[in-house]
Amino acid sequence: MKPNLINGLWETTGHGAENINPSDTSDVIGVYAQAGLAETETAIAAAAEAFPAWSHSTPQQRHDILHTAGDEILSRTEELATLLAREEGKILKEARGEVTRAGHIFLFFAAEALRQRGELRDSVRAGVQVEVTREPVGVVGIITPWNFPIAIPAWKIAPALCHGNTVVFKPAELVPGCAWALVDILQRAGVPPGVLNLVMGPGAVVGQSMLDDARVDAITFTGSQATGARVAQASLPHMRRVQLEMGGKNPLVVLDDTDLDIAVECALDGAFFSTGQRCTASSRLIVMRGIHDRFVSALADRMARLKVGPALEETTQIGPVVDSTQLAQDLDYIAIARNQGGVLRAGGDALQLQTNGYFLQPALITDTHPDMRINREEVFGPVASVIAVESYEEALAVANATDFGLSGGICTTSLKYASDFKRKAEVGMVMVNLPTAGVDYHVPFGGRKSSSFGPREQGSYAAEFFTVVKTAYTRP
Ligand code: ADP
Repeated sequence: MKPNLINGLWETTGHGAENINPSDTSDVIGVYAQAGLAETETAIAAAAEAFPAWSHSTPQQRHDILHTAGDEILSRTEELATLLAREEGKILKEARGEVTRAGHIFLFFAAEALRQRGELRDSVRAGVQVEVTREPVGVVGIITPWNFPIAIPAWKIAPALCHGNTVVFKPAELVPGCAWALVDILQRAGVPPGVLNLVMGPGAVVGQSMLDDARVDAITFTGSQATGARVAQASLPHMRRVQLEMGGKNPLVVLDDTDLDIAVECALDGAFFSTGQRCTASSRLIVMRGIHDRFVSALADRMARLKVGPALEETTQIGPVVDSTQLAQDLDYIAIARNQGGVLRAGGDALQLQTNGYFLQPALITDTHPDMRINREEVFGPVASVIAVESYEEALAVANATDFGLSGGICTTSLKYASDFKRKAEVGMVMVNLPTAGVDYHVPFGGRKSSSFGPREQGSYAAEFFTVVKTAYTRP
């Protein structure tokens, strides 16, 4: 059984959970120790105790640990990508990309530890100087989802440690393998006892006890809106800072002046790659009438050629859905869309392949209107809907007619409309002639409205969440 890491010690518990391969449910990847309330409380106490020393560790010490970890991740890309593909179902090519991204994130934050920023200002009062500096926050609770099993933990753990915080990390139940491997790498890279703790287990037990514990000074969470709201509500009584990344219902606008090939490739990638299981997936394709029929038929043709199959097969382009619950949800939404008048133009069938996995042919639903549930609620699968519009102005209005606001894209050759969309799209990230999914790691990540709450993640902006600002006045 793979153990939890608590106060620098690998600890098993009486209860283990199996990690199952969604491409082949007969393949058990391993058994992972499940923490309970007691283990979580011990981990939080260890993180609190380790904080004073770690918060005063040298930037060089933090740099060296993060750098060593980044190097090891990159040197083990193939092995870690295979584990990722096996436990989450992401195809090998995407899994390699994700592992490489995790390595690069650690190298970025290794260097970031050395790039401290502060300000020295003259006071408005004569003879007084003012310094503005940043300090670590304290114990950070990290709660992650299953869809990026190594990259999301990396982009939360790396800045937390870089900025001198201690961590209690709870990965998603479905993907403990990458989480365990990452923590093992960091521990061997020299993270001192208590500075990084791993507690695997159910959200309702391990996650909830992190929310309820006043010693947790900050929580960074990625997952569903319902759990995000819980994190926020549980944190308010403690005046705890929170950073929440939740769902998306991301629009890709296709204007009739677009390069059709680019638009089709953006839609295909944005909507269906990574099995559509990305919070930045393009789930609403908002298409002008002048290009609608050509776009739909070209996209349906490309979709018909997508090879759905086991994640570990090199020729597979679309891996399985992550589990049976998610597959049922995807199929439900396809049925709901059809019941409300949508037309299933391509895909949408669950597939029986040689292995027992959760395979779904990516689905395209046309003839939908903005008020239908398929256009209002996040599916989180390889399912996209098309909304036909008459003009750019209508496309923009439809793009913004949603509670979500993570990412939004436009395909056009018009500088005028691209510029207007960049300015007026009510999202955190805008893409022009690019898929809505696929972001860089050295620039801010996050959204608006119900998609996100709190400061941005990633790059130098991560300091907004992982540090506290101090203003010091001195009369020399
Ligand atoms: P998803 O639909 O992606 O599984 P969740 O919000 O349920 O979204 O899960 C995201 C993360 O939140 C997971 O690590 C999960 O275990 C955790 N989680 C679920 N319920 C709670 C809770 N009550 N308190 C804290 N964390 C939770």
